[in-house]
Parts: sequence; structure tokens; C-alpha cells
Amino acid sequence: MAQNSAHRPGVKGLIFDEPTLFDLGSSGRKAYSLPSTPIPDADPETLLPADEVRGPVEHLPELTELDVVRHFTRLSQWNFSIDGNFYPLGSCTMKYNPKLNEDMARLPGLSQHHPYAPEALSQGSLQLMFELQEYLKEISGMDAVSLQPAAGAHGEMTGMLVIKACLESRGEKRSKVLMPDSAHGTNPASSALCGYDTVQIPSDAEGLIDMAKLKALMDEDTAAIMLTNPNTLGMFEKNILEITEIVHSKGGLVYCDGANLNALTGVCKVGDTGVDVLHFNLHKTFSTPHGGGGPGAGPVGVKDFLKPFLPVPHIENKKGTYICNYDHPKSIGKVRTFYGNFGVLVRAYTYIRTLGPDGIREACESAVLNANYIKARLKDDYHLPFPGPSLHECVFNDKEQLKHNVKTLDIAKMLIDHGFHPPTVYFPLIVKGALMVEPTESESKETLDQFIHAMKTIAKEAEQNPKSFPDAPILTKVSRPDEARAARQPVLRWKK
Ligand SMILES: *Cc1c(COP(=O)(O)O)cnc(C)c1O
Repeated sequence: MAQNSAHRPGVKGLIFDEPTLFDLGSSGRKAYSLPSTPIPDADPETLLPADEVRGPVEHLPELTELDVVRHFTRLSQWNFSIDGNFYPLGSCTMKYNPKLNEDMARLPGLSQHHPYAPEALSQGSLQLMFELQEYLKEISGMDAVSLQPAAGAHGEMTGMLVIKACLESRGEKRSKVLMPDSAHGTNPASSALCGYDTVQIPSDAEGLIDMAKLKALMDEDTAAIMLTNPNTLGMFEKNILEITEIVHSKGGLVYCDGANLNALTGVCKVGDTGVDVLHFNLHKTFSTPHGGGGPGAGPVGVKDFLKPFLPVPHIENKKGTYICNYDHPKSIGKVRTFYGNFGVLVRAYTYIRTLGPDGIREACESAVLNANYIKARLKDDYHLPFPGPSLHECVFNDKEQLKHNVKTLDIAKMLIDHGFHPPTVYFPLIVKGALMVEPTESESKETLDQFIHAMKTIAKEAEQNPKSFPDAPILTKVSRPDEARAARQPVLRWKK
């Protein structure tokens, strides 16, 4: 495919300007036309109690059906989505979500099933949940799984509550949780919500947990370590066996943030590395649309000794009958209404069944290959602060471009003019000016090449024409909003 601007997605063609409905309306237009009926027109005010009658609404737009359909269809096309374009947002695993998953989640027998229906009438849904638990156990090497938590952060909190309940059942009151300085912000938040003080472990020169610091910090007052593997630099914690041994030797537990599981599925079992608790991000690794604030699912996997503390009900198979077992007296209780976000569970189940063991391994390997392809092709254009081997994502920064006064934010904004969603920026916090790229396995080589071409063009532009950056993006409806003010003083009302 030619790599010129005509082939950049999203920068050419029919992107419509769209006024508000209020500006579109014209008095007397209607969105329906119905045949007349013999029922006489009645004045609602004479039929309804006074407090049910709405007062007059000023400026209500009057529109035809076509006005309305075009308006909302056009607005929907302003949304950036994985169905429309490449979305290399690091740490978020914005992979393509096969439409088959959506079909299955919408099967009436699943989508219309009431959560209060008796177990005897819910065998199919319970079987699906039970089997999903089994698949997640197999993929992760953990011994038991709860599907209840509604997102990754919620899974973290659930996992930390499980750890706390276990330690308390042993009569232990520990006050601290260790975590690397590259941790996702939800990690300290989850451990703080469970009443723990967070102690940071600095990263070493390679971007991994500093082993000497870990040994010095780990003590009998430490409940757990929360780590991410591969970490937020996309790097595998190669000392993971020694790390888990050090923590266990002082009676602590090991929590693994599994949001980056896409880099391990089918290749490495987290449970074999000494991890006691792991959360999954079904909406990342197992393909559910996310990023727009929609529902996710953050199941938690644990080792056998922690199983009694998992949320109730446990979904169990009792001689071929699937049951919701509430009889687990040590459980931390429920963390979510009913059984979690069931529709997300159906999508993950479908995805796992569609790919099978070989497909899951291949997806992981392709995700790693794609990230390493981008890393290799861009390493001469953008600085790699941690150049060691990495897996499913790679983290550049703006060190080279800063020489021309072009910052990470400018690069991200300029990418929009090239038709790409920017990568994650300024995270992880240990990398100044980070640009974190995660292509996922879904993307073709052509798409990766277009992205690489855009990034190279931008690097060249930063050298030759750095003055063009403060204005970017210029091909969007809005160029550079004041992001703080847009969030703090949103204008949500139409004013004439
Ligand atoms: C996405 C992510 C989380 C949080 O997951 P949510 O589902 O967004 O709550 C936690 N840790 C890491 C490393 C992540 O990438």
C-alpha cells in the first residue's frame, strides 16, 4: 500500500460538520406521519393530574426522522473506535473485538435470562460461568477463580481484601504493601482502600524491580507485594521466582496485576511463578469493547489456600449440576450485584472457545511480535529509555524531539492529523515524556507500517519544522482544547 497522505485513515473524505439539533430544527417539522384515527384528539391537560403535565419547553427543536437519523449517525462517526482505526493505547490492549462475541452475548437465552431465575432454570448460564472459571484457571495456572469483580481495579481491591482476610484469619496484622514505582495508579489506590500503607520499590537501570531494594524493604510487617508482569514497560520480571520467594520467606503474599496477561497467555502460567492472587482484565485480554466507560470484568484467580476467602457465591459443579454456593463462611462476601457483568463473561467465553489453546498462544505471540516490530523500526527515531527485551508493548520518550522543543503531547496531537489515535502518554510515571505503544495482535503489517511511517514523518517534522507542532491537530473539529477547563467547567447546556 502506498504510504502517502491519501492513504492515511481519517484525514480525507466526508467528515461532516454537524450543527446541534437546536440549530437544525425548523418549526412544523415532524419525525413521524401516521394515518388519522377515529379517536378524537384530547387535550392531555384535561386527562392527566396537574403535576403530571409538563410545562412548555422553550426552543425544543422540531425535526424530521431523517434529520434525527443523520444527526446521530454523523455524531457517531466522530467517535474514534477500534472498529474504525488503529488504537495503540499502551497498557489498554485495544484489540479488535470479534462480532461473533456480540452475537453470542445477545442470544436471548443469555441476554434475557433473569439473575433471580432459580438455579434449575439457569443451568446454561451457570455452566458458561463455571467453564469460563475453568478456562481462566488453565490459562493462568491459578487454582480457583471468582468472576464477580466488574473491572481490573475492582479485581485488585477484591484480591487485596482476600489477602487481608487470609492474614487476619492467621491472626496477623500487617500494615504495608510493597509495589514497584512503575505500578498502575489503581494498585496503590486498591491497597489503600484495604487499609494498607504503600511502600514504593524503585526500578533498577533495566526497568525491573530492584532486587537489593526489595530485600531491604521486605519485612514481617509487609502483607504483600503488588507487581505487574510483564510490567508497565512491557518487560518480563525475569527475577519473578526470586521475588516471590523473598516475599514468601517473610510470610507475605504475592499479588500480580494481570492487566498485561495478553503478553503471557498460552506461553507462561502466572500461577507457576509463585503468584498467590492474580486479576484478569477480560475486557483487555479476552476482547470486550472498552475505553468508552462501558462494562468490563476483572475476575480474580487465587491459589487453593485462598479459595475460602473468595466472594460468594462460588459457582460450582456438583455431580453435573451447576450451583451457586453461598456456604463459604470465610468469604469476604459479595463484591458485585448478582454474579458480575455477565455479558462480558459471555464475550470472553466465546473468544476463548473460538481461539482454542493454539489460537490463544498465537494471539499472544503475534501481540509480542507486533510490538517488537514497531520498537525495532522506530528505535532510531525515538529514544528508548529502557532498551532491554520487552513483550507486548514498548515505551519511547521525547528525548530526541525535545532538542527541537517538541514534547510528547505535541507528538501525540500531531499523530491525530495522521489519522491515528495517540499512544498512552506520560505513563508509566518512571519514564519522563513516555509514549507507550501497544499494537495488539489484531493489526496487520500494513497498518503497523502506516503507523510507523506517520511516526517517522513526525520525527522528521520535529527536526525540520518544529513550529508546526503547537497548532496540531489541524484536521479535527477541535484543535487543542484547554483540557483542565473542559473537565472542570464542561458546557453541557445549549444557550441561545
Ligand atoms: C487497565 C489496567 C488496570 C485497571 O483496569 P480497569 O479495568 O481499567 O479498572 C490496572 N493495571 C494495569 C496495568 C492496567 O493496564
